[in-house]
Amino acid sequence: MENFENMKLYPSLMIFLSLVVAVSCNETKKENPKNEIQEFDYQVDRFADIEVLRFQVDRWNEMSLQQKTLIYYLSEAALCGRDIVFDQNYEHNLDIKDALENIIDSYSGDKSNADFEKFMVYVKRFWFSNGIHHHYSNAKFFPEISKEYFTKLMSQSNPKGFHYDSTMNFSTYTSWITDLIFNPSIAPWKIAPDNSPDLILNSASNFYKGVTQKEAEGFYAKMEKNHKIYNPERPVSLGLNSQLVKEKGKLVEKKYQVGGMYSEAITQIVFWLNKALTVTENDQQKAYIEKLISYYQTGDLKTWDDYNILWVKDLESHIDFINGFIEVYSDPIQKKGTWESIVNFKDVDNTKRTETISKNAQWFEDHSPIAPQFKKKEVKGVAAKVIIVAFLGGESYPTTPLGINLPNANWIRKEYGSKSVTMSNIMYAYNQAGLKSGINDEFYYSNEEIEHAEKYGYITYNLFVDMHECLGHGSGQMAPGVSDASLKQFHSVIEECRADLFALYFLGDPKIVDLGIVNHPDAYKAEYYRSIVNGMMLQLNRINLGDEITQTHMRDRAIIANWCYEKGKAENVIELIVRDGKTYIKINDYEKLRNLYGDLLAYIQDIKSNGKYQEAKQLVEKYGIKINPEIHKEVKDRYALLDLAPYSGFINPKFVITTENGQIKDIQLDYSQNYVDQMLEYGKKYRLLKK
Ligand code: ZN
Repeated sequence: MENFENMKLYPSLMIFLSLVVAVSCNETKKENPKNEIQEFDYQVDRFADIEVLRFQVDRWNEMSLQQKTLIYYLSEAALCGRDIVFDQNYEHNLDIKDALENIIDSYSGDKSNADFEKFMVYVKRFWFSNGIHHHYSNAKFFPEISKEYFTKLMSQSNPKGFHYDSTMNFSTYTSWITDLIFNPSIAPWKIAPDNSPDLILNSASNFYKGVTQKEAEGFYAKMEKNHKIYNPERPVSLGLNSQLVKEKGKLVEKKYQVGGMYSEAITQIVFWLNKALTVTENDQQKAYIEKLISYYQTGDLKTWDDYNILWVKDLESHIDFINGFIEVYSDPIQKKGTWESIVNFKDVDNTKRTETISKNAQWFEDHSPIAPQFKKKEVKGVAAKVIIVAFLGGESYPTTPLGINLPNANWIRKEYGSKSVTMSNIMYAYNQAGLKSGINDEFYYSNEEIEHAEKYGYITYNLFVDMHECLGHGSGQMAPGVSDASLKQFHSVIEECRADLFALYFLGDPKIVDLGIVNHPDAYKAEYYRSIVNGMMLQLNRINLGDEITQTHMRDRAIIANWCYEKGKAENVIELIVRDGKTYIKINDYEKLRNLYGDLLAYIQDIKSNGKYQEAKQLVEKYGIKINPEIHKEVKDRYALLDLAPYSGFINPKFVITTENGQIKDIQLDYSQNYVDQMLEYGKKYRLLKK
């Protein structure tokens, strides 16, 4: 399994990367005449530790009006659950949001000074994490302004824009909101650290009220035992769509459904899903949307499973979406789903590409540089599906996964399979923003390498990942009687090396051009260069000075780069050049580097097929663990100067609808909205859970 860690050094991505099976891209993007926007600015905003990007919805205009309308309705459904996420993250997030947005709207004082700017940074962070806690660390964060200044902001804003009940007056309300924001002992963690005595009581996430961890766990254990429709072979996800509360000493579930908790928002979601039913592409799609509506109306978890089964079986529709209480990471005991939605459609071109690779799996196996006895007589490739994201909502907005691998219920996955897809336009946006990060300018040897990376880096990196996943792991066979377990603790690093090398070796094969996957015979050099520079230098930035390499993929990449450097030394294949006190890598002979990849692949296949533990150990220890301390420090110093944002997220495009006599005539996408305007617009239009 590839984990994409090299693509961009954003820790924010890492959490999602493990979900992703393979990734793809759109090579033709740059020259594509159908591409709607030529000069597209991917970065929208930058503050604190965050970078906000935008994505482009490729191929929008190739869709019919009916398809565009379906996406539009589903996107409205995605927006209607917005308030739910804020409330699930912390019970007072919506109160705080209300107050912050009213200040932005109506504060009558100076909005151009440094203090107000700092206030805005806080609000931007608040929106970004859907609440007062950091989206990644889960810790509460604080504004860099004084409480006095904040109180002044409140007192000089429109008093009618603040909402509080009759138990408060403006003064008590102001100090309450101020305390919620500034007091470090109020709700310090969204999800309590693992060593907390009671994970539920110490977590601010709003899935339980007045309930201890022990009580909650007992409640669900008992429910599992007594549940009428609970079948241990096909268990429903008990607790997924409710808040568990204690009422008069009794534990009760408040279901998220029409007529239940979050009813105002869910009713609107259902309204738009009903509109979507009028423009579905086929009966399968219609059937699962109907099921989803019925689930929202009843809150019945068996219906949720039925919906998931129908959804996972639909492979025909061009348009697809998720909408529901899905991932359970924000619940400290992992029962409750946080609401999210992603609307997308099939990336036909890129899916075709992974299918092409996979269809030719036997050709690659036959031409692999490994010993003939280790080649599979019959090999099957795996095709990865690729999608284009049209709209993000709920927990997926603004921080976005790079792939979807659903449903979560294991029994459904086993009996009906799962949908595992990657999001090409999101990956592409990351890549384009990354090109501007300055990493290549800082570390690449010359303009030639930088320009080559701009032209071919994206396609070849993605192809590398595709081939690693679709072909690499599935290739080769063991010698008779040898077990996978022979390599013990070195099994995975050897296996990852093998898949990487298989991909690297064939990336430089003319067959790739023959298959029409890349259009230039030298394109592969971009990935060769990237993988050597990364393996020898860039990835070291993620390791603390003095530490060694421990992570499997990092070891694998270090082994490949360092081994090739050393073995190619006599012929100067890879050269280290120091210029102005900085170390650069220059590859002098790409053909020879390809042969080195082939040699190492053959060697590693032999180690694996014959279970040669000692050889594996030697290889890993010699090339994959130790770091040259001078290079390590240099890499860290050079990175530090780049001032990169560790976390990224995305804003959505805006739908521009043309109507005629009340009928939708066309829908276009407008990308010009900025981050603050989008947040304020959503805040007003989709404020469905009023206090
Ligand atoms: Zn892998």
